[in-house]
Amino acid sequence: MTGLVTRFAPSPTGLLHLGHAYAAICAFGAADEAGGICHLRIEDIDQTRCRPEFEEAIYTDLRWLGFDWPCPVRRQSAHLDDYQAALDRLIAEGLVYRCFRTRKEIADAIASAPHEAGEVFTGSPLPASEEAALLASGAPYAWRLSLAAARAFLGAEHDRLTIRIEALDAPRQLREIRADPAQFGDVVIARKDAGTSYHLASVHDDALQGVTHVIRGVDLASSAHIHRLLQALLGYPPVIYRHHPLLTGPDGRRYAKRDRSLTLQALRSAGHDGEAVRRLVKDHLARGDILGQ
Ligand code: GLU
Repeated sequence: MTGLVTRFAPSPTGLLHLGHAYAAICAFGAADEAGGICHLRIEDIDQTRCRPEFEEAIYTDLRWLGFDWPCPVRRQSAHLDDYQAALDRLIAEGLVYRCFRTRKEIADAIASAPHEAGEVFTGSPLPASEEAALLASGAPYAWRLSLAAARAFLGAEHDRLTIRIEALDAPRQLREIRADPAQFGDVVIARKDAGTSYHLASVHDDALQGVTHVIRGVDLASSAHIHRLLQALLGYPPVIYRHHPLLTGPDGRRYAKRDRSLTLQALRSAGHDGEAVRRLVKDHLARGDILGQ
C-alpha cells in the first residue's frame, strides 16, 4: 500500500508509559510497513492539564524508542484560530447551538426524558432574547452539535454515512459499519473558554495533515461516529480506522498515566535501551500475552 498517512497524537497531560509505546508502535509501524508517513501531533488544547515538561518528555521518549517524524510537529495550542474558523463554519450553517446548562442540569434533563429518548442529551437553541440575556450576564456555555440540524443539513447523505475499519493485523480486511452519531446525543464541540473540543480539533487536523488512516486505541473507537459526521458537515475526506487493543500490565489492568512505575522515562532512567523496549513490546504483542480488551 502506498500513500498511507497516519499520526500519533498524544496529549501532554502526563508521562508516556508502555501503553503509549505500544500505541506508537502501531501507528509508526503501520506507516513503516506501508512506506507511508506518521505525523506526531501534540494534542494540547486543554491548557489546564497539559504541561511543557510532559511535551518535552514525549519527544525524548519517542526518540529513545527509535521513532522519527516529519517536522514541524503540529501543536494544537498554536492553532486555536483554525479550530475557531471551523467552529464559525458550523455556527454559520446553524449546526451548533449555545448550551448554557450545567452538568447537573444536563443529567437531570436526561433522567427526566421519556425512556425512548435514550440516555443522551439533545437540545435546541434558546430563544434569542433569553440567549442574549444569558450572554450579557457572562454565563458560561458550550457549543453543542445539533443532531437534528446535522440530519437536515446532510439530507439523505446522513443515513448513508459509514465508517471504514481495517483489522489491525490484516489491513486488507476492510469492514464498513453505519455511522451512528445519535447514540451520543448533541455532543459538545467547543467550550466558551477552550474554543474547541478534542472532536473538532482532531477531525480538523486529520484533514489538514492529509491523514488517510487513524490508528488509535479501541477506547476511542466510538469517537469515529462523531468524527465521521463532522467530516461530512465540514466537507473533510473520510479516513480509514484501525483500532488497537489496550495494553494491560501483569495484574490485568490497563496502563494509565497514574501508574508511575512503568513510564518510559522511568525505564530510560533505569538504563534500559529504547530499541530493546520497543522490540520487547512488539514481541510480547505478537504472543498476545499483554493485551486487554
Ligand atoms: N490525544 C488523544 C489521547 O492522547 C488521542 C486522540 C486520537 O488519537 O485521536 O488519548
